[in-house]
Amino acid sequence: MRMYDLIVKKKKGLELSGDEIAFMIAEYTNDNIPDYQMSAMTMAICFNGMSREETYELTEAMAKSGEMLDLSMIKGPTVDKHSTGGVGDKTSLALGPMAAACGVKVAKMSGAGLGHTGGTTDKLKSIRGFRTDISTSEFIDNVNRIGIAIMGQTKNLAPADKKLYALRDVTATVDSIPLIASSIMSKKLAAGAKSIVLDVKTGSGAFMKNKDDALKLAGEMVEIGKRGNRNTIAVITNMDEPLGYMVGNALEFKEAIDTLRGNGPSDFTRLCYTLGSYMLVAGGISKSREEALEKLENAVTTGAALDKLAEFVEAQGGDREYIYNTELLPKAHIIKEVKSHQSGCVQRIACDEVGMCSLVLGGGRLTKESEIDLSVGLELKAKVGDYINEGDTLAIIHANDEDELKEAALRLIGAYTIGEEKVNKSDVIIGAVD
Ligand code: URA
Repeated sequence: MRMYDLIVKKKKGLELSGDEIAFMIAEYTNDNIPDYQMSAMTMAICFNGMSREETYELTEAMAKSGEMLDLSMIKGPTVDKHSTGGVGDKTSLALGPMAAACGVKVAKMSGAGLGHTGGTTDKLKSIRGFRTDISTSEFIDNVNRIGIAIMGQTKNLAPADKKLYALRDVTATVDSIPLIASSIMSKKLAAGAKSIVLDVKTGSGAFMKNKDDALKLAGEMVEIGKRGNRNTIAVITNMDEPLGYMVGNALEFKEAIDTLRGNGPSDFTRLCYTLGSYMLVAGGISKSREEALEKLENAVTTGAALDKLAEFVEAQGGDREYIYNTELLPKAHIIKEVKSHQSGCVQRIACDEVGMCSLVLGGGRLTKESEIDLSVGLELKAKVGDYINEGDTLAIIHANDEDELKEAALRLIGAYTIGEEKVNKSDVIIGAVD
């Protein structure tokens, strides 16, 4: 078999066989296929797509390129949750403990992530002492004892995807539905959970800018999950404005804690409960979503979900006091209000620009090597549909550098569209695919 022939085949829009895909992925992982040939292939896939069969074969080959985690030692229903990512997305921090408090076994591997804020493991590092580099046996032991553990992605989890994703990132070949679906699902299949709940985001702050593409991506991923023998559900959610009010690592952690106390923003709380209800049903803990919602709400009102977060943090070396006293979380030196120059209704918030503000402040990373400042970020004070007067606060910026603060403030004002027309608040939940 020659990679050259496979590129020609895909260029002509023909279907690659399972053997051809397995060959391509194995040889690429072993450095026997050069990046220039693989980038020609990913570009051909971007233009000509892949059949469902090809997409599944690609996913399976990437999943099997490294370690396939065996979670069979975990007693109880393992349910993984994955988000395609967005601005202010701190869902795992609140939803993980909520679901675990209801009996789901949450065994989650989380990548550090590139972008406007860190990933879940970065946000967790806001807690003094918290370790994400736990061993697989400690991970499994903690899930069995407590119901939840979150660790950094091991080097050997779907290494083919790691290499391919880095290549796609620099060759403008990220935005292909079969490539995104296989990339995400290869890691989910390798991570071993029996059920998978996917949060597929759509809107200005998401990969999928429109609903039709989000639905297509969701359908592809659900199909892959089912073929891989995983109970898989995808929820399509709105990312046309940031999720909740906080954007930034420690700030998002604080908002997740507030939500576990029952004082979270309505969109974020609704998202956690909705995804949680699918997790409980998928795990066989609740018979219906209504019953699941009741359990989740109960876990919050009794304090069980917050205590579960503290238990989880402590088990991974973190100081549990941070959960009950959020004043201990890292704090920026400069706190500055940004005022509105206009009166009216907030029509739109350019979500990706808000993400850029956080990045400018140092809250995210552009390369895997960049250091993250956990203390910086934004606290939004107005969301779409809110009325504001000239001089009202649009957001509070938390910064550690005056120049970064100035740039973030300018960008933030530009991100808001304010006008006379009344705009209704939109629902964070758009639909579900199962
Ligand atoms: N996230 C992934 O893990 N892979 C993609 O291709 C896109 C988003």
